[in-house]
Amino acid sequence: MSEHCCSVATPQAQAARAHLCPGCDRRGRAVSLVTVQAQVAISLQAIAAPLYWFCATRDCPVVYFAADAPAITRDQIRERVFQKEPLDDVLVCYCFRYPVGLLQQSDPDQRAAILAEIVAGTQHGRCACTIRNPQGSCCLGNVRGLLAGREPRDLVNTAEVR
Ligand SMILES: [Zn+2]
Repeated sequence: MSEHCCSVATPQAQAARAHLCPGCDRRGRAVSLVTVQAQVAISLQAIAAPLYWFCATRDCPVVYFAADAPAITRDQIRERVFQKEPLDDVLVCYCFRYPVGLLQQSDPDQRAAILAEIVAGTQHGRCACTIRNPQGSCCLGNVRGLLAGREPRDLVNTAEVR
């Protein structure tokens, strides 16, 4: 009986552990393989796992990690990652190319226009968040957070596990 319990618990523990970033020990969120393939600046021969997780922790060098493959770090990614380098000229909206600084420095009318353009773009299917945004999903949560006056670092750990 006890052997049976152990044999069940161990894979579960490993599965839970697989969601934790090897660089910062925080939970990542699952990303599509195509996101990793589109974002890396290294040979796709190095993409050795079927499923990767995205780490949004600012000070952690790991961007993508997987249970059975080497982690992919910031210096191996083509784009600068908003959550890790929230600088003026780093993009927050990768599809329509709005940088952090532009959003932060815009007046309320400009902000409303930018948000409206992003929303309209997504509604018309012009976005490609899965391949263009390192987080592999829509930027609107990050954009709304910035427009609400939140600092990029405060958005870092709002990543939802999908
Ligand atoms: Zn990490």
